[in-house]
Amino acid sequence: MQLTELYREVILDHNKHPRNFGRLDPHDAEAKGHNPLCGDRLTITLQREGDRVADLRFEGNGCAISMASASMMTEAVKGKDSATIHALFQRVHALLTGQGDSNADLGKLASLSGVREFPARVKCATLCWHTLNA
Ligand code: ZN
Repeated sequence: MQLTELYREVILDHNKHPRNFGRLDPHDAEAKGHNPLCGDRLTITLQREGDRVADLRFEGNGCAISMASASMMTEAVKGKDSATIHALFQRVHALLTGQGDSNADLGKLASLSGVREFPARVKCATLCWHTLNA
């Protein structure tokens, strides 16, 4: 199987079966994100434990890239502290914009690397990270 084909499968799977989808209640923080270029909308609710994201959920609707990216992000950041999450986002952003080509140990998030061929879709893929940051 071609790597791009594998990546496409991962994205379609996460779009069809989003992980951590819904609302977390009670929650400590809530943020909404909107990507007007595509119409993607997201709401993230999360619970903190000290500096760590103890648990989080997302809900909303949008294109496959935005939904799959949010689904994979929730899996990647759960249980992590804010410094680790920030560093992860830097690497994902570099991957998406083609400034970094180290897919190594980004796990499933690397499947979004195809987005760099479509600059307009980068905002779809990063919406969840900006929302999490907010
Ligand atoms: Zn989109």
